[in-house]
Amino acid sequence: MQPAREELVERLARSPALDLVVIGGGATGLGVALDAAARGLAVALVEAEDFAKGTSSRATKLVHGGVRYLAQGNVALVREALRERANLLRNAPHLVQPLSFVLPLYGARGRWLERWFYGAGLTLYDLLAGGGRMGRTEFLGRAAALERAPGLRADDLVGALQYRDGQFDDARLAVALARTATARGALVVNHCATVGLTHRGGKVSGVLVEDRLTGRRLQLGARCVVNATGVWVDAVRRMDRAERSNLLAPSQGVHLVVDRAFLPSHSAILVPKTRDGRVLFAVPWLGKTILGTTDTPRADLPLEPEPFREEVEFILGESARILARPPTRADVRSVWVGMRPLVKPPDENPGDTKALSREHAVLVERSGLVSVTGGKWTTYRAMAEDVLAHCMADGLLPSRPAGATVALSLVGAPQTSSHALSEAPGLHLYGTEADVVRSLPGSALELAPGLTEAMVRFAARFEYARSVEDVLARRSRLLFLDARLAAEVAPRVAAVLAQELGEGFDAARSLAEFTHLAARYASVE
Ligand SMILES: Cc1cc2nc3c(=O)[nH]c(=O)nc-3n(C[C@H](O)[C@H](O)[C@H](O)COP(=O)(O)OP(=O)(O)OC[C@H]3O[C@@H](n4cnc5c(N)ncnc54)[C@H](O)[C@@H]3O)c2cc1C
Repeated sequence: MQPAREELVERLARSPALDLVVIGGGATGLGVALDAAARGLAVALVEAEDFAKGTSSRATKLVHGGVRYLAQGNVALVREALRERANLLRNAPHLVQPLSFVLPLYGARGRWLERWFYGAGLTLYDLLAGGGRMGRTEFLGRAAALERAPGLRADDLVGALQYRDGQFDDARLAVALARTATARGALVVNHCATVGLTHRGGKVSGVLVEDRLTGRRLQLGARCVVNATGVWVDAVRRMDRAERSNLLAPSQGVHLVVDRAFLPSHSAILVPKTRDGRVLFAVPWLGKTILGTTDTPRADLPLEPEPFREEVEFILGESARILARPPTRADVRSVWVGMRPLVKPPDENPGDTKALSREHAVLVERSGLVSVTGGKWTTYRAMAEDVLAHCMADGLLPSRPAGATVALSLVGAPQTSSHALSEAPGLHLYGTEADVVRSLPGSALELAPGLTEAMVRFAARFEYARSVEDVLARRSRLLFLDARLAAEVAPRVAAVLAQELGEGFDAARSLAEFTHLAARYASVE
């Protein structure tokens, strides 16, 4: 039986000394905790907010090698990501699935130059996947392109290139990682912040954490501390030494969600070159269409960044170039923003920077604090192996062979999944645990499409949800799909959580906080 959050906190309080404490419960930290637990180490992970509350719930939802990196000539990176794509498809087929992509070709440039240029690039992309290849890039004539991606702008369309990649439910995958790590003995606790580091003889010897639900503080001793706090990595580095300069130069990415009617298709659309030279996607996801993203530098690091007006205009403008029915501001159901942890070039980072790479960075400070940031969701597992290799090479952790997670199925993973992630949400997202959800009270009571009362109970009992937001933003994705509808059902979710969580749960406050948040996601003004 899976331990409750409160039980995990008690076990943390009783743990004499751990091998490893991981700070941050996004893709990166959860990957490290799972890998270390799978290798038999004594591990704890603390997440200040909720699993994937940061960048890890705000991805474009693609499990991919990154066509963009290929264009930059970064072949090794693409190859690694394609290998990890294959691992993810195998280890969590209820949450990670193949998706076909259409790259539309317009006008004379499309007929000649772009067809061959992008065709060659995508064929190379397929080949780099090796045994994990998902299909071959094909040229589609105009009629076939419109059939494959209804909703595509037809005038001047000469055809399209079709290739295959992966998509996922990022926040549910993060929760699955947390639960799989817990099943392997890791003490993984959300709503628990690191508020300080402790040192002995100039070396990091543990962390001071605060349970945000109770205010209780705990001192955790550990041989090794990994700082996996995404864009907040520098704040934790400064807990180690106050005068540290910034490792990161973050930027933000906006996504807009519109109805499926704008892209009534199971294929995504890739725009390989927007007017500012980026890629843009229109992705069918959980019954809606995601449009994005942008890349705008910003110096501050809010937990809930707001979109800039120009970013919304940019996405709507670029979408109008590929969709037959251009969406307007009034069509936007939800807008959400993720902060990208971009690592500055090595020469701007003093200290031990030999391990910095363009994609992710692992930095072992003189104090022994290990910081990891950058990279992408798709490669979280490979990043975790890299982090543990550094910890072991520096003698911070005992050596254990790598590879423990390559074929490790995540909680709920079925053999195969019969539902596409592009379809509306439902019980299929629970994989082998669907029967447990069905057995809970309220399994026939739908609060919103794809969200039953039983799912809320399951979120509280088994998925560590402790607030209305935890349920509606990350166990269900309703906030990301339709923020107004999420606000409408929030009172009923709060009432079910009050039954499940009892006295410690302040339903009125949790509801008020969520209502405020949902109003922001619903607004693109
Ligand atoms: C717009 C956008 C789109 C993207 N799309 C894709 C995509 O389609 N596919 C893909 O593979 N990748 C994508 N990425 C990249 C991917 O999302 C990120 O690389 C990944 O989510 C980063 O995870 P992380 O764990 O490092 O950071 P985060 O997810 O931000 O996790 C850090 C965590 O640390 C916690 N924390 C902070 N301070 C403390 C503290 N003191 N104590 C405890 N906890 C703390 C935070 O609450 C947070 O949850 C995208 C990124 C962006 C910005």
